[in-house]
Amino acid sequence: MKKVLVSRVLPEAVYPLLEGLDVTRRDQTSPLSADEMRSALGAFDGVLCTLGDQFSAQMFADVPQARCKILANFGVGYNHIDVAAAKAAGIVVTNTPGAVTDATADIAMTLMLMSARRTGEGERLVRAGQWEGWHPTQMLGLHLTGKTVGIVGMGRIGQAIARRCHFGFGMKVQYYGRSPKELDFDAAFQSDLIDLAANVDVLVTAVPGSAETHHLIDAQVLGAMQSHARLINIARGDVVEEKALIDALQRGVIGGAGLDVYEFEPAVPDALRALDNVVLLPHMGTSTAEVRVDMGRMAVENLQAFFRGDPLPNSV
Ligand code: NAP
Repeated sequence: MKKVLVSRVLPEAVYPLLEGLDVTRRDQTSPLSADEMRSALGAFDGVLCTLGDQFSAQMFADVPQARCKILANFGVGYNHIDVAAAKAAGIVVTNTPGAVTDATADIAMTLMLMSARRTGEGERLVRAGQWEGWHPTQMLGLHLTGKTVGIVGMGRIGQAIARRCHFGFGMKVQYYGRSPKELDFDAAFQSDLIDLAANVDVLVTAVPGSAETHHLIDAQVLGAMQSHARLINIARGDVVEEKALIDALQRGVIGGAGLDVYEFEPAVPDALRALDNVVLLPHMGTSTAEVRVDMGRMAVENLQAFFRGDPLPNSV
């Protein structure tokens, strides 16, 4: 029987799907330590791992004759795994694309609305008992209907956000990426990120975390944005240069931001938490019960297929 380590607590509905495998449940919510990762590579045939389990090239180098042959990642983003080093070590990596798309697009919309309409500030005002009543100039925000959204990375999630903006809010859509996409709604491709940033009222990042996308949104991009415009990041924290973002928010270079992810998460800088013009969520993109079960189901399907010798549904 193949030995599998499940690196984090998963929804209960996922565990029965692991039938036929010798499963070790690590019933913790924190990422694997370096020692735990090394032990896992040496002692298990497969690991169901997730965000925060930093399988770096060093981990694979530390365990040259790894027993582990598959890292089945729970999540679409796998920038915490050095995939090239895993492959070189004879370990396949899989992920869970698609299951996360709509939920993550919904969180992008949540952040867009919260930032544009200042609802975080409004809620804090009411909770603090400081609301003195409605008046015509109270807490004025940015109207989203009819505005222009810029999507950075028009993949599955980028397109789901664009559709919501286009069909739901009558917004114009522009996007930046490596190549134009065939889409069934109007969206203008921009080959220059600075041009896109300058054109839009809301700039949303939906690229994977990688060496190429590290600090893609830097001081120059933020500086090109209009002073009322909002930056929304649901991608990975280090896609945005956090220091430059804090500076842009403090100096009013941009109107606001909505963040689901952070450069050094779970650390969120005091300077960000002190600002009213930023909405801060704790990486909630996929956090619905249904989606987390679906992600688990996909991760397990990858494991089961691998051990049966079948083609992998989602190799990366
Ligand atoms: P996807 O379908 O692969 O889309 C990614 C898009 O980014 C693709 O269109 C890709 O272009 C583009 N891209 C990649 N590298 C680029 C670069 N260097 N410059 C410009 N564009 C680039 O992935 P997805 O399913 O939409 O997920 C996107 C990311 O969202 C994940 O990798 C993950 O990090 C993040 N995410 C976050 C949460 C959350 O909880 N906040 C949840 C789920 C996912 P091509 O079309 O040319 O390949």
